Amino acid sequence: VRETLPASKEAKPPRRTIKLTHPDRLYWPDDGVTKEGLADYYSQIWQHIAPYVSGRPLALLRCPNGIGGEKFFQKHAWKGISSHITLVNDPAEPGGNPFIAISNLDGLLALVQSAVLEIHPWGAPITDWDHPDMLTMDIDPGDNVSWPAVMDAAKEIQQRLEASGLSAFVKTSGGKGLHVVAPLAKKNDWQEVKTFAKGLADAMAADSPDRYISTISKAKRRGKVFIDYLRNQRGSTAVAAYSTRARPGAAVSTPINWEELSSDIGPDYFTVLTLPVRLDGLTADPWQDFWAAAAPLGKRKAR
Ligand code: ATP
Ligand code: MN
Ligand code: MN
Repeated sequence: VRETLPASKEAKPPRRTIKLTHPDRLYWPDDGVTKEGLADYYSQIWQHIAPYVSGRPLALLRCPNGIGGEKFFQKHAWKGISSHITLVNDPAEPGGNPFIAISNLDGLLALVQSAVLEIHPWGAPITDWDHPDMLTMDIDPGDNVSWPAVMDAAKEIQQRLEASGLSAFVKTSGGKGLHVVAPLAKKNDWQEVKTFAKGLADAMAADSPDRYISTISKAKRRGKVFIDYLRNQRGSTAVAAYSTRARPGAAVSTPINWEELSSDIGPDYFTVLTLPVRLDGLTADPWQDFWAAAAPLGKRKAR
């Protein structure tokens, strides 16, 4: 069940009930962000992240010794997992290894306690695994690509999505690029959504072969932007809006308004330390209309 965003920003975060062991453990040593600092961050922004992490299968990047240590990308439950985390079975795989889901702030804080530094949800809810409610176009600049070229790619994707009757929302990845996300009405299955996303990426590469590439080949990416449509397959994930990244700088994948897209805001501009301040200063979440804008894929293919 999705929680609506608070009408007023005075809504206080719920009180924390999860016990943290080693609250002073440094997860981002260079930035001074501890396990407790991460728990405080998620408690403050819970209302904003909830719709993107609640009630979905989650892949998690766990870093028990912080971002400098070993990293484990996990799609399934582990031994001794917290009771605040829900185990869910993929209906397509009865008796398979259970997936991980959360439904409230305690669940999110249990992830923090388990050293989860990145949250990567599916684009479909656990109530309907086969009908994605979001499409993610992941913009991946190759070497030697300028930031304005990345912004141009995002705006072109926005235009193409809108031309096919979808709404487009943009967020920084917290890494090197941008993600353009379209809310979907859950009328289409993964195959249809993937075909549509691939069509969009292929059309961009065909129209501007010097700027865009829609095939994975790393070698050919130099100087070009890879339009990564592959987040849109059953079982694929993309980092959640408002999730932290396990990279130096403690950046957060941050929803922004299209008007904010500029050279002032790079892909890792907003961080664990600055994002709560940003949200306090905004009158509304930049993605507050996200779910209301959900639409089905049109009959026409993307172009
Ligand atoms: P950037 O802007 O730096 O590209 P990104 O989050 O978009 O950041 P990508 O490398 O483009 O990173 O996307 C990788 C995606 O693949 C992640 O979002 C994640 O959901 C998924 N993924 C699959 N396997 C892994 C893995 N072993 N480690 C990290 N991510 C993985
Ligand atoms: Mn990317
Ligand atoms: Mn990618």
